[in-house]
Amino acid sequence: MEKSFREKVLSKFREIAKKHKFLKVPTVVCATVILGVYDFVQYFASNGKRYASLVVLMLFFTISSSFCFPAFANSDVQTVEYNYDSQVELAMDEAVSISEMDMLDDDMDEMSEEYEYEDAERQGMADADKYTLDEILEENDSFAHFSESQASAGTEEYVFDKDDWRLILVNKQHPLPEGYTVELETIKGNMQCDARIIGDLIAMFQAASEDGVNLIVCSPYRDMSRQEWLFERKIKTYMGKGMSYMEAYSLASQIVMVPGASEHQLGLAIDIISDNYASLDEGFANTEAGKWLAEHSYEYGFILRYPQGKEYITGVEYEPWHFRYVGKEAAAVITKDGICLEEFIEGL
Ligand SMILES: [Zn+2]
Repeated sequence: MEKSFREKVLSKFREIAKKHKFLKVPTVVCATVILGVYDFVQYFASNGKRYASLVVLMLFFTISSSFCFPAFANSDVQTVEYNYDSQVELAMDEAVSISEMDMLDDDMDEMSEEYEYEDAERQGMADADKYTLDEILEENDSFAHFSESQASAGTEEYVFDKDDWRLILVNKQHPLPEGYTVELETIKGNMQCDARIIGDLIAMFQAASEDGVNLIVCSPYRDMSRQEWLFERKIKTYMGKGMSYMEAYSLASQIVMVPGASEHQLGLAIDIISDNYASLDEGFANTEAGKWLAEHSYEYGFILRYPQGKEYITGVEYEPWHFRYVGKEAAAVITKDGICLEEFIEGL
């Protein structure tokens, strides 16, 4: 009877072990390894279909997750992970210089305010689109009366409504509802926001000003095409640096909010800086303006949308400059309870 492969190997090694006593241990080890590999291959061969489907499944998860998680091998990703602004498209070390942008897109007039930010951030926001209270009122002094007409609401016995337009949740898991429309009001120049929040916004700026804090509004409303354009452009930039589409997509989604997931598209989110601190980074929290906003913004219906310590819920790094309008009642609860919008809505 023909010997099986296993028997052949075993007898061969027994022979060797008999001849050379000192080789006993190495032969046992060798035989174990060879037979182990043989068994594994045999098992794999006889379960071909099962393993093939396992491999396909693993491939599927690897490919799909590369959209959500940083590519481990890419060193650029490591630095970007620790940049804090996923909404305003800025990362200091990833910022694209004007000349680089020029190569990508010849039409400099088309440069968005966000790109101006990107560059302006590095240059102290010298020429970015940004307006102080005085500049805003100078164009539209009717805003000055908005706040007076809005009575401040009490929070007692207030019943929250999940369908309240002020409480709409937009994040990566809850994209902007299809066909979402908003009536916009111009703040100044080409800056717009939801018309219904402008009174409270101006009232907040005025109150800050009375306390000696000069706030500056930047990057309020952004439409879908702007967000898409920004996102696509970021991808192009990375692909221009030699990345694959998937790598570029993965990296871009960490810096620019995926179109449809940015609160700026609601017209209810505003990035706020101050006249003596123009960078959109964590340092803003320690400025007079950052502290004033953290303490008082709720009185005007705004919340610090991406607080420190809630990143695991919001999915966004701490952004002390990004404020979201939710109305005075909800803002008071959210701020006093130290929760984020997701938690508040969950509790309704
Ligand atoms: Zn923002």
